[in-house]
Amino acid sequence: MTATIIDGKAFAAQVREKSGKKVATLKAEHNLTPGLAVVLVGEDPASQVYVRNKGKATAEAGMKSEEIRLEMTATQEEVLEVVHRLNADPTIHGILVQLPLPKQVDEMAVLDAIDPTKDVDGFHVINTGRQAVGLPAMVPCTPLGCLMMLKDTHGDLSGMNAVVVGRSNIVGKPMASLLLSENCTVTIAHSRTRDLPTVCRGADILIAAVGRPEMIRGDWVKPGATVIDVGINRIPKEDGKTRLVGDVCFSEAVEVAGAITPVPGGVGPMTIACLLANTVTAACRQAGISEPEV
Ligand code: NAP
Repeated sequence: MTATIIDGKAFAAQVREKSGKKVATLKAEHNLTPGLAVVLVGEDPASQVYVRNKGKATAEAGMKSEEIRLEMTATQEEVLEVVHRLNADPTIHGILVQLPLPKQVDEMAVLDAIDPTKDVDGFHVINTGRQAVGLPAMVPCTPLGCLMMLKDTHGDLSGMNAVVVGRSNIVGKPMASLLLSENCTVTIAHSRTRDLPTVCRGADILIAAVGRPEMIRGDWVKPGATVIDVGINRIPKEDGKTRLVGDVCFSEAVEVAGAITPVPGGVGPMTIACLLANTVTAACRQAGISEPEV
């Protein structure tokens, strides 16, 4: 069996186009331009690339985009000052503080300071709690993108066995919570899980969010399962350059799975697309209007 490849890049382009159309409607009918501010502290090269891409995608969707850069030596008070200013700015509907933050800045304190209605990353405990109890919430972009691809592949996920490998606050836990909301039977695995290959083999839906290159092998995958690979790992090539691989050994898993996301071109592009979608949602909720249908 060879799996269907889930084309995250093409799907993300559709999601972005939809957000663009919603923005156009909001401007024309409500004089509302959704605005997203991204705060970057320091000069981490990967974070700089993410922030640049986010800014570009925001502008392409017709939204206001603001980028705030602080020095690596910025104090917690300076970061909090920026967050407070953005919370009070009516032209900004979404605030994203790029992680990781330098060690002198308390990440939880900064995330906690973001107005939950502007928390388009969905990391604020208010949003985590609201999502968990089934209230409208801002949902973290990466798990949201994974869920969109799963629903596009399967429609109804009710009753499916889902295994999420990884329990981080930004991917594993919210992913598990979303799958539970979709009536999956959810197992969360992590570094202390016993006999991980057997646990994975029980999954109709297998989500890998570990950060270990190609750890999940083909014989860990149940035949016909849907595999979503969140991992982004850079490994050396023979020619001295590097390449990106996921947490799943794609060449093995593609022979067993029913559907699988590639790395790159799977989950990654969906994350930015969901950030735009979340910013539109946040802008509408703050303005007290329903989201335009497109
Ligand atoms: P993280 O915070 O480092 O969490 C990794 C999780 O994997 C932890 O829960 C850890 O378990 C578990 N783990 C580590 N080694 C394991 C092992 N040998 N067996 C089973 N579980 C193991 O990572 P993250 O932030 O969730 O990110 C995970 C991956 O997704 C990374 O490659 C990251 O780059 C990628 N990512 C991609 C996107 C995207 O847009 N595509 C977004 C975010 C992250 P413990 O809790 O027991 O330590």
